[in-house]
Amino acid sequence: MGYYTPGARRRTRFSMGRVLVALGGNALQRSGGGGTWKEQVAQMRVTAEVLASLVSDGYELVVTHGNGPQVGTLLRQNELAERELPRRPMDVLGAETQGQIGYLIQQELTAALVRAEVPRTVLALVSRTVVSRRDRAFSHPNKPVGRYYTEVEARTLRKREGWDMVYDGARGGWRRVVPSPRPLRWVEGEALRKLLPTGWGAHIVPVVTGGGGVPVIERRRGIFEGAEAVIDKDRTAALVATALAADTLAILTDVPAAAIGFRKPWEKWLGEVHAAEMDVYLRRGEFGEGSMGPKVEAGLSFLRAGGRRVIITDPPSLSRSMRGETGTRMLLD
Ligand code: ADP
Ligand code: MG
Repeated sequence: MGYYTPGARRRTRFSMGRVLVALGGNALQRSGGGGTWKEQVAQMRVTAEVLASLVSDGYELVVTHGNGPQVGTLLRQNELAERELPRRPMDVLGAETQGQIGYLIQQELTAALVRAEVPRTVLALVSRTVVSRRDRAFSHPNKPVGRYYTEVEARTLRKREGWDMVYDGARGGWRRVVPSPRPLRWVEGEALRKLLPTGWGAHIVPVVTGGGGVPVIERRRGIFEGAEAVIDKDRTAALVATALAADTLAILTDVPAAAIGFRKPWEKWLGEVHAAEMDVYLRRGEFGEGSMGPKVEAGLSFLRAGGRRVIITDPPSLSRSMRGETGTRMLLD
């Protein structure tokens, strides 16, 4: 069991358990593509403080993150530059965001860990996630990426680029949709898994499968091809948490908890909930498709694969959630 005295933080020898923290893309950069690098640094600095306090409490930490707003920005940059520079495909943009966000996390988290007197090497890995070419998502793309277009633009892009475009009634515009296939395997995970018995968690904080991992299709053993797709980072987080034998999967987003009756007069924020109950709410459609839904699904699949608990909350509430005081805490029945 964990043992911790405030004065001996640096010498914490017994792990309180391993935690995989999944940072929402929106927790790193406001959506809409705005925001300077300086603002992103400032935002990450606050989150890094929270993550470092987990480490000083004795937890082994693994970090993953989303990339929605960042991919949106790169898509727009490509679009604006396309008369001079060729567009890059989605898998490459995914890899670019792993580098960019991984670097940001390395910078800020390393500093926060030093300040908390629990120095670690923060190691960001370019990660690939295997998907099946037979995944239904490839014939039914449904994940919106990039900006909104007018109907005329949408028609042109459909013809010229072969994009799938859908109308978003709520915002009154058209968007490109790409496939969001299920993650099957995190390629680089095997290496970290093999190293688990060496106790790297006491020295290294890995940052892995950003944006759900770069989607690749395995043509033959060891031969991978990038796919024009995106992977839901919460689904991959469940896979990673299981692969690395994490005890807790903590999903950080921009709301303090999951709710039922979300934004309705009878809204109720969920605290401790058992998996079976959460499953009922999920089937009832209580959680937004493509937002809260995948988090709850990921939580359920992690618990069913042997995980101990799942936390859904925002960065300021994480420490209290870990102590069972706030946030949504999902447990197996
Ligand atoms: P992230 O980048 O963290 O993955 P998402 O936008 O995908 O963020 O998911 C978080 C959002 O889910 C919240 O901002 C909220 O608007 C939305 N949401 C949908 N349904 C619910 C619900 N039942 N309870 C809480 N939040 C919900
Ligand atoms: Mg999301």
